[in-house]
Amino acid sequence: MSYYKYSQYLRNIYGEKVYKIPVNLPGTCPNRDGTIGTGGCVFCGSVGAGFESQSNRLSVRTQLENNIAHIGPRYKAKKYIAYFQNYTGTYLPIELFRQAIREARLENVVGITISTRPDWIPRPYLEFLAEVQREGIAIEIELGLQSININTLMTINRGHGVAEFVGAVMTIKEYGFTICTHLIGNLPWDTEHDFYEAGRLLSVLGVDSVKIHSLYILENTELGKWYNEDHFDVLPSDAYIDRVIHFLRIIRPDMSVQRLFARAPKGETLFCNWGMSWRKLQNILEARMKENGYHQGDLYSHTGGNL
Ligand code: SF4
Repeated sequence: MSYYKYSQYLRNIYGEKVYKIPVNLPGTCPNRDGTIGTGGCVFCGSVGAGFESQSNRLSVRTQLENNIAHIGPRYKAKKYIAYFQNYTGTYLPIELFRQAIREARLENVVGITISTRPDWIPRPYLEFLAEVQREGIAIEIELGLQSININTLMTINRGHGVAEFVGAVMTIKEYGFTICTHLIGNLPWDTEHDFYEAGRLLSVLGVDSVKIHSLYILENTELGKWYNEDHFDVLPSDAYIDRVIHFLRIIRPDMSVQRLFARAPKGETLFCNWGMSWRKLQNILEARMKENGYHQGDLYSHTGGNL
């Protein structure tokens, strides 16, 4: 395998297939409600960057049980990770947060993933999660970073900088949780070197896992408006693939890779993956790495200046 897939990482840990099951909570985000900002990140759709979930009117337990009943037989999976994907997971009132986590503790749930912002990492939430981890449930925190270029972060209205991300990683590591970081590989305001530098930063910080998204553009978002008004061009698919390959070559070989292309909701999407399926693009990328004998981390050297 040319790069270290998250599915393989999970097999190495648990000895079998493990599936991440999205759970939808009725939350919001401090970058939407005025606490940090309003309007949210320019790419963020109505469901807060999570669309594969069930209705948040269902209880956490019901959502998980429904999904497990569907996914288990289909993929022959027996173990699961409850994935709190929408909005800012640690922005829920703490009692609701605790209750949601308790409800997720089904017998075959071996891990819990919380998706959140790097500037919203309150210690009481981490302390509660540490108790859960001590009881045998692995905790992973997913941090949205998207870019390490501060000007890009301001353009896309993230409401935080790189320093908050570094601080979040340092704080979370005190609790022994694993960390996944989201990046967008082709933000029009980033150069390829911004993206590569993000890979080097994640490597140096000991981030465990990365989720890379190709830029997707949703209707009824600020980004969608800019796209319709021709404010930017989207990098061609071939150049994106080459960029991601180089990124994989310079990151730590043991950083697992959860995603390389976008997944966006059908129906609300103005642009996603150049009209191709993510699987097709992934096959092209894997074939290109294989043909050239490239492997994840074969250029990794955070002190050697490989760009
Ligand atoms: S931080 Fe997440 S939920 Fe909040 S606006 Fe940005 S993408 Fe949406």
